[in-house]
Amino acid sequence: MMVMTDNLLGAFSAWSNLLGIAYVLQSPSSVITPSTATFSTHQKILAIIRPGILPEIQECLRIANRFKTPVYPISSGKNWGYGSAVPVETDCVIMDLSRLNRIVDFNEELGYITLEPGVTQGQLFQFLKDRSSRLWMDATGSGMECSVIGNTVERGFGHTPYGDHFASVCGMEVVLPCGDCFRTGFGRFPNSKAASVFRWGVGPYIDGLFTQSNLGIVTKMTIWLMPAPEYFQAFNFSVAEDQQLEATIEALRPLRLNGTLKSAIHIGNDYKALSANRQYPWEITGNKTPLPAAVMQEFSEDLDFGAWNGFGGLYGSREEVAAARNQLIKALKGKVKTLRFFDDRKLRLAAAIEKPYRWLTGKSLAEKLKLFGSVYDLMQGIPTEAMLASTYWRKKSPVPTTMNPDQDQCGLIWCAPVLPTDSIHVRAVLDIVTLVFSRYPFEPAISMAMVTERSLSCVISISYDRELDGEDERAMACYQELFESLMAAGYYPYRLGIQSMGQLKGADVNYQKMLRTLKLALDPNNILAPGRYE
Ligand SMILES: Cc1cc2nc3c(=O)[nH]c(=O)nc-3n(C[C@H](O)[C@H](O)[C@H](O)COP(=O)(O)OP(=O)(O)OC[C@H]3O[C@@H](n4cnc5c(N)ncnc54)[C@H](O)[C@@H]3O)c2cc1C
Repeated sequence: MMVMTDNLLGAFSAWSNLLGIAYVLQSPSSVITPSTATFSTHQKILAIIRPGILPEIQECLRIANRFKTPVYPISSGKNWGYGSAVPVETDCVIMDLSRLNRIVDFNEELGYITLEPGVTQGQLFQFLKDRSSRLWMDATGSGMECSVIGNTVERGFGHTPYGDHFASVCGMEVVLPCGDCFRTGFGRFPNSKAASVFRWGVGPYIDGLFTQSNLGIVTKMTIWLMPAPEYFQAFNFSVAEDQQLEATIEALRPLRLNGTLKSAIHIGNDYKALSANRQYPWEITGNKTPLPAAVMQEFSEDLDFGAWNGFGGLYGSREEVAAARNQLIKALKGKVKTLRFFDDRKLRLAAAIEKPYRWLTGKSLAEKLKLFGSVYDLMQGIPTEAMLASTYWRKKSPVPTTMNPDQDQCGLIWCAPVLPTDSIHVRAVLDIVTLVFSRYPFEPAISMAMVTERSLSCVISISYDRELDGEDERAMACYQELFESLMAAGYYPYRLGIQSMGQLKGADVNYQKMLRTLKLALDPNNILAPGRYE
């Protein structure tokens, strides 16, 4: 039973008057869903408020200040693996921004779009499709219903040349904790012509302050979209032995640096490949965990993947793609087990020969291409639900048609260190991962993404079944050891889960002091997302 203080009663009454009671949800059944993440959390949510327009957001924040009641904004609340919709601290009211789902500006010629927090990947994709646009969005693997802004304020990444999402942001509309609203960049000037095409504006550049922070609510964002290339071809390679990864990374680095490879190449280990294809083979292993090496060996032969498997796209004119392809073949020669190129024609052909292939080999080509098919879409900015199935890796029940990792008690914790694109660092990180996981019954599914020209964003997942006794605790202990060991070695995360905010060790005290000064000045009552990235 929630104890209603005078402040809470006052805030609920003021929000209900403002939004209507239908948009102030307080019943235990309404708050149960957003209280659940893909790992154990303790935070209690007091209510959910759902403003529908900008002035309502501003007034909601003024009310929060008046009644000293903290609010935690979410755009779609599907921050799976990092805390989903759960606030960092307990006793917050969630401000759900999903009703603000308008696309307010779009320019086909200059390649930009301005949207609100409720606009999802699926909605943006449909918007472009409906207009037969020649522009591509960039999509993450987190499905149709995830917010474009929600991901971008976390500085998430995708798969096309525009994969580093914050790098494509050109201006925001922000509401400060006090309720004041302004636009960043040139957007702050009346009648400014270049607000959506020149991201720095004039004077201090402040957009970064509103990503991974609790200094303001982003209510609009302009993002650049990529002109569809004349021709697109995807490639996929596999590295037979783990020790050959270093040579592959060294071979790819110059191509990513000199622009031959324009997009975020994703390189995943065998666990990543297997969990993207199927659930844990409980029957074959006789319920034993972690996955025995011999079982993995059988699957890798059957499904034709290696210790490491890379996916990337080549974008440009046919001549440019052919030249890049030649460079890639030359660079990877002798280092990879397989290197395959795909385009639409080849995939159509593969679908056509599925039956004879199965008849001849007894194996399914479609099964082999299942993972590739979804990555192929993502490399062209097409969102897909397919990746979500991997969150059911350790579940004993089959993957449902409608996937909801939070409600279905899928256990998932990401740990996401960044490292230089350099084989020494790659091995150093992998050694840490191997050592830590040797003490826990989980498989480290790892991907290394060449999101920028010089760095690798490594995402390590701990997947488990939350329904099993003790697994929540074991998985969190594994994560904690991993997170701390990586930081101790100098590999800091590009993004944090709610369980780790406040745990970044050793940061410069003056930097922290500056952040605290800003927070105190902008949010003296600490009513906006307390604890977030502090
Ligand atoms: C199988 C799978 C694949 C995934 N693939 C990817 C991937 O390829 N790339 C990737 O980056 N992530 C990926 N994720 C992680 C995650 O699901 C996505 O990043 C997702 O987009 C984040 O959730 P959201 O968009 O609903 O954001 P939200 O949960 O709405 O927002 C995230 C956080 O940002 C803050 N916030 C949200 N909106 C605002 C706002 N308007 N103003 C201020 N602060 C705000 C809040 O604190 C919130 O907790 C994946 C997850 C899974 C399970």
